[in-house]
Amino acid sequence: MNDLDLRSAMIFACLLVGLMSVVLFFIRGSYPKSIHGIGTWASGLATLFVSYAVFSGRGNIPEALVIVCGNLLVMASLLILYFGSQRFFGLKTSIRLWGGIGLAALLVMTWFSLVEPNFRLRVAGVMIFAAAALFAHLRLIFLHGNGKFSSRFVIFVLALEATITTSRLFSLLLAPSNEAAIETQQIQDLYVMSFITSYLLQGIGMMLMASDRLHEELEHLARHDALTGCLGRRAWLDICNQEMDRSIRSGRQMAVLMMDIDHFKKINDNYGHQIGDRVIVDFVKHATGALRRADSLGRYGGEEFVALLPETGSAQALIVAERLRSAVELASGNPSCTVSVGVATSDVNLSVDGLLARADRAMYQAKNGGRNRVELHAAN
Ligand code: GH3
Ligand code: MG
Ligand code: MG
Repeated sequence: MNDLDLRSAMIFACLLVGLMSVVLFFIRGSYPKSIHGIGTWASGLATLFVSYAVFSGRGNIPEALVIVCGNLLVMASLLILYFGSQRFFGLKTSIRLWGGIGLAALLVMTWFSLVEPNFRLRVAGVMIFAAAALFAHLRLIFLHGNGKFSSRFVIFVLALEATITTSRLFSLLLAPSNEAAIETQQIQDLYVMSFITSYLLQGIGMMLMASDRLHEELEHLARHDALTGCLGRRAWLDICNQEMDRSIRSGRQMAVLMMDIDHFKKINDNYGHQIGDRVIVDFVKHATGALRRADSLGRYGGEEFVALLPETGSAQALIVAERLRSAVELASGNPSCTVSVGVATSDVNLSVDGLLARADRAMYQAKNGGRNRVELHAAN
């Protein structure tokens, strides 16, 4: 590739980085506010675009100013992208630490640009910083990424660029003389091209990461009840069906609790719907506390809840149900509430619907028996 081709390619790649930054800014506007970091990523890409614009000003702007400002912007872009990822994962940004490291690199770079001009050491100073920032970014996504294609893609791009940067750094430091290093200008251009391309690929990877996150959030919304945060009816039934298959294969029983808050209409009538809602939220908190880690609580509808107890026989299910009932009764909520619980356990020929019907019958038995009670279905 001759010199002109490479320069044209660089300009084109840089324009794409700028475009990617604009797209990310728009994505930030349309995505939920709970997904952080997208705007910061967009700023990181925009900063690289501006740095290229500064470098393109060579000849028109004093050389020293171009070098110092251009490199400063490149270093800032690396950090801004890194901070964007920290924000994306809900972590605190390490601005002080990296600001300090950046300042040291800036001093080295400025010294070898203005005070004691030395191409090799100046570029090396920036590259040590770049390699450190790329490795830190890589480590961050490796530790916090979701392991899906999007984060693996960004890890791959960062690892590749960090390796290229490190190799280039060594080749520069090992060059026999400053002149020999300057003669490798075309190699330096190739390096810059790979650096810009890595921003382009990082931008794509970050868009994919953001869309993965959006997907996860929407899925969570679809599967969970908005008021209480516990599983919604459909998601709970899915889990119940899976567990039923497993229970049939393993021959181990599973249990279901059907729960209905007692005299809830009175709570609504006496205290209003808002307080009624709060009672439901508190109920879920206490019920969750009484259940075991493997159990799943779901909102079946209104103030009716269901719990799935995997690998649990009737004796153990009764213990859990009683613990839950008494936790709700003893909770010092104002207004307080009680719950009636029906318990049923699986049978070889019983469907999920059949199991739920049994638990429901047991729950009505508890209601008829005076409420605030646990009843086991008669067939168990
Ligand atoms: P019982 O002891 O027989 O269960 O009596 P109950 O008053 O609880 O009767 P029922 O279970 O039929 O009443 C359910 C009431 O719960 C009716 C409905 O207005 C109210 N409800 C259902 N969903 C919600 C909700 O999300 N928030 C509030 N505040 N009330 C709800
Ligand atoms: Mg009810
Ligand atoms: Mg009720």
